[in-house]
This record gives sequence, C-alpha cells and structure tokens, in this order.
Amino acid sequence: MKARFPVPYFCASLPATNKTCHLVTLPLHPMDIYRHPTFDMACAQFDRVADLLSIEANDRDRLKYPKRALTVAVPVRMDDGRVEVFSGFRVQHHLSLGPTKGGMRYHPEVALGEVAALAMWMSWKCALTGLPYGGAKGGVACDPSRLSLTELERLTRRFTQEIISFIGPQIDIPAPDMGTNEQTMAWMMDTYSIHTGYTVPAVVTGKPVNLGGSLGRREATGRGVAFLVGRAMEAIKLKPEGTTAVVQGYGNVGAVAADSIARFGTKIIAVSDVSGGVHNAKGLDLAAVDAWIAQHRTLAGFPGGEPLTQEQLLTLKCDILVPAAMERQITAANAARLQCRILAEGANGPTTPEADAILEQRPDIFLIPDILCNAGGVVVSYFEWVQDLQSFFWDEAEIMSKLYRILENAFRQTVNTARDRKVSMRTAALSLGIQRVYEAKKKRGLFP
Ligand code: GLU
Repeated sequence: MKARFPVPYFCASLPATNKTCHLVTLPLHPMDIYRHPTFDMACAQFDRVADLLSIEANDRDRLKYPKRALTVAVPVRMDDGRVEVFSGFRVQHHLSLGPTKGGMRYHPEVALGEVAALAMWMSWKCALTGLPYGGAKGGVACDPSRLSLTELERLTRRFTQEIISFIGPQIDIPAPDMGTNEQTMAWMMDTYSIHTGYTVPAVVTGKPVNLGGSLGRREATGRGVAFLVGRAMEAIKLKPEGTTAVVQGYGNVGAVAADSIARFGTKIIAVSDVSGGVHNAKGLDLAAVDAWIAQHRTLAGFPGGEPLTQEQLLTLKCDILVPAAMERQITAANAARLQCRILAEGANGPTTPEADAILEQRPDIFLIPDILCNAGGVVVSYFEWVQDLQSFFWDEAEIMSKLYRILENAFRQTVNTARDRKVSMRTAALSLGIQRVYEAKKKRGLFP
C-alpha cells in the first residue's frame, strides 16, 4: 500500500509496561486495520476459494471483511493497587444468518487482526455445520497465568461492561476459547444480567451446567475431534488397534481429544503445552499427565517420558497428529517432514497456506481441516443457546447423538465435495461454508 503521510500508530498488542509509539504510514485501504499474519492467511484461503466458486468481484469484499469490530480499553485495578489498562476486542464477521457466535481469548498475543481472522473462520465453521450464526471472536491481550483469580474477575467484568451493547442473545453470543473457561463465562453472564436486571443465560455459552450450561459442552470440541479421527481412520482403512497419536496443546481441546482417541485403542505417544513436550514411545499414562498438571500447572518436569520440543513433536512418526494449540504451527518449514497419516486440526488455523500447498502434494496424509475438526464446540454451544432460550434442558445422550449427527453430515459433505471437485479437504470445507454465506447474502440482497 502506498502512503500519503506518516501517522503515529499505537501498537495495542504490546504489554502495558512496554508501550511505544511507532511511525507508520497511513493505510489507503480501510480494511488495513486488520493487517496481521493470521488475517492475511484467512484472506488468502478465502481468495482461493472465491476463485474456485467464481464469486463475482462485487460480492468478494462484502463476504470477506468483518462487518464490525470494537476495540476497548479495559482498566483493571490490580491486587497491588495499580491500575493497568488492557486492550480488548470483539469482531463480528457477518450478520446475514443470525446473531454472531464465537469464543473469547485471553492471551498475550491477542490482536485485532488475529481476532478478525478467527471470526472469519467461525463464519465458515458455523455455515459448514448449518448453524444459524455468523462468526465472531474476541479477547483481551493479557497473560491469564500471571493474573490472580480476583484480577481475572475484575478484568472479565470490566471487559464485558465495555462491550455490553455489542453482545446479547440475539446480537452476539461469546463462549470460551484459549485462556478462558466456564468461570469466565459465568462472570460475563452475571455482569450482563446485572445490566439488564434479570438473568440472561443465553448471552454466553460454555457456562457451568448449574447456571444454564449444557451437558457435554466442556468435552464437545475434543470429543468431536476424536469422532472425526475415527471417521478418517475408516476412510483410509486404518485399524485403530496399535495406532499412535501425538497431541500439540494439552488444554481443554487437546486433553479431551487425547483421552477420547485413546479409547479407540490408540497409544498417545507425545503431548505438549506452553512449557514444551513429553514423549514416551510405549504410550503416555494420561491419568498421570492430568494429575501432574493439576498439581504443577504445566507439563514441565513430568517424569513419565522424555522431554522434546514443539518442533520435534510435530514431526514425530505417528498415525494421528492433532495440533490443538495456536495458529501457524505447520508451516513451509516443517510440512514436508510431517510423519502422520491423519492430520486432525483441533486448533483454529494451525496450518499456513504455504504448508497447505505442500500437504496437497502429500496424498499419504488425510487432513481433517480446522473448521470441520474443531466444530464440536460451537455445535454444542448452539445446543446450549437453544436450551437456554427454551429453558428446557436435554440429557447428555441426546446432546451427543445430535452432535455426532451434525459432524457426520459435515464430514460426508466435505469428503464428497473434495472427491467431486478434486480439491483438498480444506478447500472443500471452506467452499461449503463460504458458498452458504454467499447464497444468504445474495438472497437477502443489498440494502438500500
Ligand atoms: N472458541 C470455540 C471455537 O473456536 C467455540 C466457539 C463457541 O462455542 O461459540 O470454535
């Protein structure tokens, strides 16, 4: 982009103690506010599918760019009396199919462009699984592991207050994501309800079950990953007994996925978290891993295996590789060295477009793309929202069977599209999602 004149630019993602002013150039394209490697990646994926679907030029930018975004300063009184200001974000990608839906992330690297990319992926994910939502995402740039429980509560309540007119059961419904959990959602729901004057459970999903949360929501993403891994094993005729799996990111998604995949008779030979990885060729004792993390907070020092780096973990020989951590982990630098048969993307955006180009030349790897693989979470969030709106709650068996039916449909449609159009599983899943949003926008027309 050509610049007209330099303007001071405040880098919101820097920690409060290290704020600097940069001189950068004024962007000419209004959507340059979202510039970020993850947003560029989501746009590159979109552009490719838009070409494949022959989406008219007039409709492309309308489909691609977020409808609206809110950036807020969140002042929080810390336990030592200081006031720290955090940057908070919420991006709503499109409003054509209903309210927007997506998680809230607490992580030091949260930035507007990252959140916008994650919101875009939520749109395609909801459309692929047939949920009546547009995509959204939000978060606060902070390190939750360094905040006390009381600081986290004040941060969450003030952040909710700052975005209160931007969310609501018929507007935008947050949920947990990296760094947030049921407790975060309970505080958000409580803050929103104090504002309205009565309890509004349907404003967020992923709440504790006794506050209108859904049975099975906490486990839904990980169990969905395992269900789809099972379907992928059938598709490539891989018998589960004696297979091996590696999981990057032993959080809510990765830990439940590992446990559920192990039930197939698969050995989990390596897992990792922020502190690094641990490998045991004979299979890790997952109950011992859970007990260690409950006591020590991270995997560091776990005695039941050998330590290894994230890079070594991703390229270990195994049958099933589950990246369930951050974006952009599988890149041009390691994609050719992956040694798995099934790549099950529990995380959002773990594979870059450059890595995709390499994986497309590797028919030995069956890809379950993120917007399909991790969709179990938002599907059960949808069930939670429906149950809250009706004040009528379902049992776990009903929830799980409805979840698997939706995932089965989405899996079949993706496999069939990949086969019929001779495209990768990622392109197939994205094109199904994008096509549905495109059709909705076409049918509704352009106002005025
Ligand atoms: N944060 C999850 C995701 O990325 C869940 C979103 C939701 O349940 O709304 O899909």
